[in-house]
Amino acid sequence: SRARSFDADEEPGRVRVTVRLRPKNAEDLSNADFLDCVEFQPELKRLKLRKNNWSSESYQFDEVFTETASQKRVYEVVAKPVVESVLRGHNGTVMAYGQTGTGKTYTVGRLGKDDASERGIVVRALEDIICDMSPASDSVEVSYLQLYMESIQDLLAPEKTNIPINEDPKTGEVSLPGATVVKIQDLDDFQHLLQVGESNRHAANTRMNTESSRSHAILMVYIRRSVHEKVNDEISSREKGGKSDLFDGNRIPIVRKSKLLIVDLAGSERIDKSGSEGPLLEEAKFINLSLSSLGKCINALAENSPHIPTRDSKLTRLLRDSFGGSARTSLIITIGPSARHYTETASTIMFGQRQL
Ligand code: ADP
Ligand code: MG
Repeated sequence: SRARSFDADEEPGRVRVTVRLRPKNAEDLSNADFLDCVEFQPELKRLKLRKNNWSSESYQFDEVFTETASQKRVYEVVAKPVVESVLRGHNGTVMAYGQTGTGKTYTVGRLGKDDASERGIVVRALEDIICDMSPASDSVEVSYLQLYMESIQDLLAPEKTNIPINEDPKTGEVSLPGATVVKIQDLDDFQHLLQVGESNRHAANTRMNTESSRSHAILMVYIRRSVHEKVNDEISSREKGGKSDLFDGNRIPIVRKSKLLIVDLAGSERIDKSGSEGPLLEEAKFINLSLSSLGKCINALAENSPHIPTRDSKLTRLLRDSFGGSARTSLIITIGPSARHYTETASTIMFGQRQL
């Protein structure tokens, strides 16, 4: 069964998959023939998808969120274990996947300026991280990027496009040479930066005549902490038997680096390839490429495969060191309630079920 526990220190490398239902929107409410296609069994962490009166299918997740689930609860289940692990020095990734209009940005990126209870994952994560930092010895920095048609654009300096991905051949560490990195002092700072990034994203997409839903928005959070690591027993006993407190007792200070990626993925809806041509077809190909290679990596992680096929797209190359190994990964699938979108909803759910 996939309904295993996900304590932060348990099963590193495994992908936690949850699903969240968006409340009915104006379109759903104004539709006289509205039919619900989703039913929950929250105590079983199951969701039932109804195809018609005669046929339905049940799916199991690590957690299911009904339309009344709060932003706070979603954060605590989906992202907090990853944040805690990142604060202990591991890398981690939180991603939202789903059809446009189902609540990815609401779940991940909502600022909640006027109402803190509305805050999404990104703001809550930074709040927890900043809270845990010691200003004298730790630092938190962020980059904010958009990935569109296999090209990375800096949302904090939108004139920077085509940012390369570098992978350190020795450590495997992924970096983005030239991308803006901003040091964060407090939450206000960060919220302001996020707003700047959002308006840059909007302006860039208007200029390119594309929708935000066709690109991936990626927030990278870099954490650096001075920790006092216990030196190994051999050295410490030698020290005890020996001379001075050279290492402040038996501890030496080291700098520990870790990284959190929070990704608001491009809309998962299929662009009708037969009907599109030119730029739209190219766009569809790239989105399909990145989402399908992401799916393959998630599969490989779930199967504990020694080879995670991250080379196929920029999205997965970017995730390479924040995926598998000691890293924690959490994927939230967002869906709408209407039977009108049954096909897309079913395919979204299947993406989250690929580990079965
Ligand atoms: P996506 O990013 O997947 O395209 P959005 O996050 O923009 O979708 O959500 C579409 C609309 O639905 C927005 O107006 C958003 O505020 C609303 N919405 C989404 N999820 C919820 C929710 N759980 N509760 C209330 N409103 C929601
Ligand atoms: Mg969105």
